[in-house]
Amino acid sequence: AAQLIDGKAVAASIRQKIAVSVENHIAAGRRAPSLAVILVGSDPASQVYVAHKRKDCEQVGIVSIAHDLPETTTQEELTALIDRLNADDGVDGILLQLPLPAHLDSSPLLERINPRKDVDGFHPYNLGRLAQRMPMLRPCTPKGIITLLATTGVDLHGLDAVVVGASNIVGRPMALELLLAGCTTTVTHRFTKNLEEHVRRADLVVVAVGIPDLVKGEWIKPGAIVIDVGINRTASGTLIGDVGFDAAVERAAWITPVPGGVGPMTRAELLENTLQAYESTQG
Ligand code: NAD
Repeated sequence: AAQLIDGKAVAASIRQKIAVSVENHIAAGRRAPSLAVILVGSDPASQVYVAHKRKDCEQVGIVSIAHDLPETTTQEELTALIDRLNADDGVDGILLQLPLPAHLDSSPLLERINPRKDVDGFHPYNLGRLAQRMPMLRPCTPKGIITLLATTGVDLHGLDAVVVGASNIVGRPMALELLLAGCTTTVTHRFTKNLEEHVRRADLVVVAVGIPDLVKGEWIKPGAIVIDVGINRTASGTLIGDVGFDAAVERAAWITPVPGGVGPMTRAELLENTLQAYESTQG
């Protein structure tokens, strides 16, 4: 059976390192790093995510600044807030929690964030840097997956990698990360013919769609690495991924569990990005 990739443990050790770095900065007389978190409206899932992010910050000594705004907030008000946070030297990172209420347009807002404070790594400038092999701030989920892959010790150069899902926040930046890591990278999505064929020949498969059992465990090539990004809640309330785990675990060499795989890494990488943004200005 496959070895489990323990995202929870790796994330905990990253948080520990960040906490030490923050302590050292403060001992050297510098201010603490800070992250502004903007939440618009009352989407329950977003509220949970934001609460986690704030708790994570607190745990490592990063100051989190809450901007909880009403559902009725206008595009102009949000733009003005981002401008203010961009200009504030006491703010290292700016995070705009998505999705926004339907009357708001996220793209121009994400593009308004100063790329040096763009700790989600969603600004076109940061994605462009990643595409051109000069990454600055990198999207948290794909970055966390690269960190997890490094813990396996497997050499990624020349592996046939297949990414399932092509969203702006996971699939696309994941493909750029895997290219950078030396994989021969295929991106599949809702229009892909014969998903099974692609997955069957993959040495490394990263699945980020949001459909339980989309990738059958029987499709996994023996000895492959399987990274399951999907988070789906079953009728009984448990969380499962996008990959048929029970069959996949019998075939893969390495596999991430859901929960406890990719999820904790996404959270840890946000802290790492905030520290990186801080260190780029506070030295
Ligand atoms: P999304 O809905 O933005 O994108 C889904 C992608 O899947 C699209 O590119 C679409 O083309 C593709 N797709 C849809 N049906 C498909 C099919 N039949 N075959 C192949 N591809 C298909 O989703 P997202 O924001 O990228 O999130 C994907 C999943 O990952 C969700 O379950 C989400 O909850 C989860 N997620 C987890 C983390 C984490 O930290 N673990 C972070 C982000 C997202």
